[in-house]
Amino acid sequence: AAPLVVARSTALAAKKGLLIRNRASFEDARKLQSVVFDKTGTLTEGRFGITDIELEKGLTEEEVLVLAGSIEAQSEHPIARGIIEDAKQRNISFKSPESFESLTGKGLQGKVEGKDVKVVSPGFIQEQGLSYPKERFEELSQQGKTVVFVLIDQELAGMVALADKIRESAKSAISELNSMEVQSMILTGDNQQVANWVANQLGLDDVFAEVLPHEKADKIKEIKQKGLKVAMTGDGVNDAPALANADLGVAIGAGTDVAMETADVVLVKSDPNDVVSIISLSKATYRKMI
Ligand code: ADP
Ligand code: MG
Repeated sequence: AAPLVVARSTALAAKKGLLIRNRASFEDARKLQSVVFDKTGTLTEGRFGITDIELEKGLTEEEVLVLAGSIEAQSEHPIARGIIEDAKQRNISFKSPESFESLTGKGLQGKVEGKDVKVVSPGFIQEQGLSYPKERFEELSQQGKTVVFVLIDQELAGMVALADKIRESAKSAISELNSMEVQSMILTGDNQQVANWVANQLGLDDVFAEVLPHEKADKIKEIKQKGLKVAMTGDGVNDAPALANADLGVAIGAGTDVAMETADVVLVKSDPNDVVSIISLSKATYRKMI
């Protein structure tokens, strides 16, 4: 394309809130065949609220929330923010933990008032072979809720279910991609059933769930090895290596600095429809090139 057309497309993109950081990847965006989306904060709003608390060990909801909240207060994960917000609304005050450690992609653990407290994923519970109320867990997961488990001194004290909202704008983005014959997929560390629920709501073509942070980048490589031109869209620190591996890395503007620094394009308005705009604009700009 003529340099003037290219320069105008950058200005036009910027006006729409698409910051193009890598021109070559933007040029190739017209050839994309699949777009992979992170779930939390990308397809969903990333704002969790507690919907259900299932108690297992004779503790009260408040006791569970004090212990869980005290270690979650050390985390910036959207799940942590949801639990803390809810606990605060119940006027619960947290203790400062004697120690704290994050279990990457699986949750976190710490010592609170001499007790070993863990807030962890279903995957962690299954790995450890701990028993849990499976039926209730499946019921909650099938409703699209993210369930975390609170362990106190290695015993299950409760399950906390949290709900996030699917972004309204994700629906039209996916159907547009569909009509452009671009596949859309979800890639998440969350539970399989939750991922399936989101995929059904949005009509996604493929689902990769229970993926650990370091496996996200490998997943993108696998898709490329199938010969597909792939974009990755995400917001988190965890997503950065996957953004780097993709043919086009797209960061959600409301996300982390690491994601934005790695991305080829940043969506200032955090609107998944802007992924569609990138592809259309790339096609319009480079139409006459091979
Ligand atoms: P994603 O970014 O795809 O939503 P993560 O890799 O951040 O997924 O998290 C994967 C899973 O690990 C979560 O669904 C949850 O079960 C668990 N987890 C991560 N962080 C926390 C946390 N702060 N508190 C409780 N559980 C967590
Ligand atoms: Mg995320």
